[in-house]
Amino acid sequence: MKIEILTLFPELVEQVVRFGIPRKAVEAGVLTLSARDIRDYSPDRDRRIDDRPYGGGPGMVMEAEPLSQAIDAAKAAIGPATVIALSPQGEPLTQDWVRRLAREPGLILLCGRYEGPDERVMEAVDVELSLGDFVLSGGELPAMALVDAVSRWLPGALGHEQSAPNDSFAAGLLDHPHYTRPEHWRGAAVPEVLLSGDHAKVARWRLKQALGATWLKRPDLLAGLELNEEQTRLLREFIAEASVNGGT
Ligand code: SAM
Repeated sequence: MKIEILTLFPELVEQVVRFGIPRKAVEAGVLTLSARDIRDYSPDRDRRIDDRPYGGGPGMVMEAEPLSQAIDAAKAAIGPATVIALSPQGEPLTQDWVRRLAREPGLILLCGRYEGPDERVMEAVDVELSLGDFVLSGGELPAMALVDAVSRWLPGALGHEQSAPNDSFAAGLLDHPHYTRPEHWRGAAVPEVLLSGDHAKVARWRLKQALGATWLKRPDLLAGLELNEEQTRLLREFIAEASVNGGT
């Protein structure tokens, strides 16, 4: 996958491929990332790319022409690509979006600053995506988050020991809890079933915990799922045990 990030802070967004899974994806040859400085497309000697808003009011607006030229240059550099504007007004960036984007040959990520881009440039944008219902001062952190999340789905980026399909949201549920050594830590023991060596039992326990965690923390996700017979039974068990233990 080829990704171009259009930004006023190229040195900031380039950091995302210096660490962790995105770095592994680059080393494995499945991801290339370049940052393109929008100021390179400014017609001015002082490299300005913003101007005052028509209609008055506070803040500055990113001009359409440099943005449009930066998008065209990115397209010419990486070929077919989905153009994404990071925006608080966009669709929420979900795991479904991440998986869909990971199948694309190229992504062009447009990072806004100030009051955002001149609306007319949105013609060249395929989709607006948001990191959540809050306002950041720029699109760089959401773009970096998107690159990180997408890299987890690129073949060869994750080792055998980690797997994106087991993560939260992949099957519509939150992930089950994880434990590592020591077996006893400050009076808390690892659940016995995980020490049993019985793979079927462990799988059942993990599914039950995943259903339970989703029920406790994100009931909205459960509402959108059709549970099969075994899942329904396991969730009922979890709820019964939670109320016996005073958890509800
Ligand atoms: N005036 C805009 C509004 O209220 O919709 C906010 C502009 S914000 C200060 C500047 C830029 O930060 C945006 O153009 C966008 O690229 C980015 N941004 C801010 N919050 C974001 C979010 N929740 N998700 C994605 N991008 C965001």
